[in-house]
Amino acid sequence: MRVLKDFNSLTSYLLEKSTSNVQIGFVPTMGALHEGHLALVKTSLQENDITIASIFVNPTQFNESADFEKYPRVLQEDFKLLSDIGLNAVYTPNVSDIYPNNSDKIPLHFDFEGLDKVMEGAHRPGHFEGVIRVIRVFFAQINPAKAYFGEKDFQQLTIIRRLAAKEFPHIQIIPVETLRAEGGLALSSRNRLLSPRQRESATVLYKTLRRASAEIGKSNLQELIIDIKSSFAENKLVKLEYFEIADAQ
Ligand code: AMP
Repeated sequence: MRVLKDFNSLTSYLLEKSTSNVQIGFVPTMGALHEGHLALVKTSLQENDITIASIFVNPTQFNESADFEKYPRVLQEDFKLLSDIGLNAVYTPNVSDIYPNNSDKIPLHFDFEGLDKVMEGAHRPGHFEGVIRVIRVFFAQINPAKAYFGEKDFQQLTIIRRLAAKEFPHIQIIPVETLRAEGGLALSSRNRLLSPRQRESATVLYKTLRRASAEIGKSNLQELIIDIKSSFAENKLVKLEYFEIADAQ
């Protein structure tokens, strides 16, 4: 596995590969990898000649600096997991490789068609702007044939699909199903920050989603939402930020 520590190393690697006309798959991540990330990489390995994964804790998508600082960083462990499954190259750029000359300060132009104002957009102001900034740079630098995103972050996936349709129509966006731990909790890098008791309590999220999806079509939606919200009041360790039922399109 090649480790590409900056934009120059990425450029040389892509130049080497360009002579053999290979098809590139790309998997962007923020590291602290788990089986969910590896599922994306494995899918890409099957569907492309070579796969590049990136590990970059993107500062522009964090709306709280404490969250950015606490975000787990375990690069050597990540390299081992990636090389064990046969990844071709991992790109670990510096902030200046992604945002040269403070390009992250330039106002962002992107029509979210309202998707930045609801759910994760409403609760994490600026988050999706940061996601668009970083993915735009990655797509321009790597120019993959296919890029892989988890359905766990469904709103992000939808926004990325729109970005690709508008600005990178030659890049195919491939969704990958959510991998879950026993009990149903979606695998997530931030789960490392939870105690065993907190992890156990967090399974309420999946149980609730299952219950809600079984009820859709049978009960009145407003009553269902009220019922779901009140069931969270009983759980002392989980504070519900929002619960919404939305059309996936
Ligand atoms: P992150 O490192 O959190 O930015 O995630 C990188 C990619 O992995 C994103 O496309 C996520 O949606 C995806 N991902 C994260 N967790 C999971 C999971 N449990 N199952 C499937 N994909 C995931």
